Amino acid sequence: MNHRRKPLINLTTAIKLYGSEKTCFGRPRFVAKGFCEWCNKKIINKRRTSCCCKEHSQAFLNAVSPVMYANIGSVGGYRGHILRRDKYTCQVCGEFHGEYSPHGVPLPTTDGQLDVHHVTRVKDGGTDDPDNLITVCRACHKQIHRSDNNA
Ligand SMILES: [Zn+2]
Ligand SMILES: [Zn+2]
Ligand SMILES: [Zn+2]
Repeated sequence: MNHRRKPLINLTTAIKLYGSEKTCFGRPRFVAKGFCEWCNKKIINKRRTSCCCKEHSQAFLNAVSPVMYANIGSVGGYRGHILRRDKYTCQVCGEFHGEYSPHGVPLPTTDGQLDVHHVTRVKDGGTDDPDNLITVCRACHKQIHRSDNNA
């Protein structure tokens, strides 16, 4: 059995093939609108939408930018959107695999334990259509492919 994985197509190609509605997703918010995405306190300053103050805004950006702002022409860019769509949560076991701010707020990022999996395997003709891709954690991913081999 050949375990070499075909790399995903990049985001630009995915948008061309499948359309941006199915491919591009805004980052998930884990706090209610009007509350700070870093500390979860009510935002008083009306000009701020994401975080309560400049410091929290900076801390939030530092934590999420490596995941949030991958190059559109890159495979990471496409992978990142699938993770966003699935809210950084394994679609098999339901566990959240983002990180948390020091205030305990879930962040739209990954702890490095998330993979993108082809529901219909590539060897069985599965494509990189977003409908065929799900976010899974490393442990569940291993389990899925182990049962493939035992089938
Ligand atoms: Zn705050
Ligand atoms: Zn899992
Ligand atoms: Zn897989």
